[in-house]
Amino acid sequence: MTITLGIESTAHTFGVAVLKDMKIFCNIKDSYTTKSGGMIPAKTAEHHVEVCDKVLKQALETAKVELKDIDIIAFSQGPGIGHCLRIGATFARSLSLLLKKPLVGVNHCIAHLEIGRLEGAKDPILLYVSGANTQVIAYDGGKYRIFGETLDIGIGNLLDSFGRELGLGFPAGPQIEKLAKKSKRYIELPYVVKGMDVSFGGLQTNLKQKIQSKKNSKEDLCYSIQETTFAMLIEVAERAMAHCEKKELVLGGGVACNSRLKEMARIMCKERGAKCFIPENHYLVDNAAMIGLTGYLMFNVGSQLSISESQILPYERTDDVVVNWR
Ligand code: AMP
Ligand code: MG
Repeated sequence: MTITLGIESTAHTFGVAVLKDMKIFCNIKDSYTTKSGGMIPAKTAEHHVEVCDKVLKQALETAKVELKDIDIIAFSQGPGIGHCLRIGATFARSLSLLLKKPLVGVNHCIAHLEIGRLEGAKDPILLYVSGANTQVIAYDGGKYRIFGETLDIGIGNLLDSFGRELGLGFPAGPQIEKLAKKSKRYIELPYVVKGMDVSFGGLQTNLKQKIQSKKNSKEDLCYSIQETTFAMLIEVAERAMAHCEKKELVLGGGVACNSRLKEMARIMCKERGAKCFIPENHYLVDNAAMIGLTGYLMFNVGSQLSISESQILPYERTDDVVVNWR
């Protein structure tokens, strides 16, 4: 049996998980939030420094293991916010040196896909919808490839910046979902899909103007932003499924916690006779369990980093990663 320690710190969440082979024994996290305003990188990194020790202790206690029992240390190497990644990487390196255990660097986006395996997905299209990332990813020709993505900002960043205009605090997604449930009045918004890519920049400006004009209720705007953007996302995911001839969809990323997006994904899959796999919410948001799981799979085929190779990769692309564990 292999005991893996997974460490996540790409953005707002600092997380530590313990896995015994592919089984998750704990998935502890502490996330940076604000009452108003957004996420400032340096402050978020400070948050991670403050909580890292506590999160590790809690993870070890919950999983009933000691530091000396750990066999592998897997950390998210990228992509993400440099300030935040650096904390997780330093933490992982220190543990690796202290315990004399191998270090594995994991691509965060691929980890969102791999956790779908635990739900039973074998060869899915991943619709990955988080703060900074919006991508449609699938395994094809020996790599995880990006078939579609946002041409500008990520869906979560759009929701959070829209929420900030409305004074909802960070993260705004859950508040938007609550307010949207109180409306059924659709306000037309720019719908921008280009092939398998989406664009949210025009929508962001348009919504800003609508908020400033004060002609529409918060509830109607929240309802309309969800209906518009989620339809765009499901459209590109469906096109990728048709193009790649894949019969499975996995959702990943914090925005996938949204019940309306889940509903749309299930309807689309049902209509085309495909399976829809939606991990539980604590595996959709940034979490260390998916990092541990992917690190474990990678280590089994010989993936390992020396300290000098363990530099963070804030701009790493999904298709930069050599995939030899499938
Ligand atoms: P991640 O970076 O994957 O942890 O995702 C964070 C993003 O998910 C933030 O932009 C949140 O606003 C968004 N989010 C979290 N919960 C929800 C929700 N219920 N509906 C929409 N967006 C959400
Ligand atoms: Mg993420």
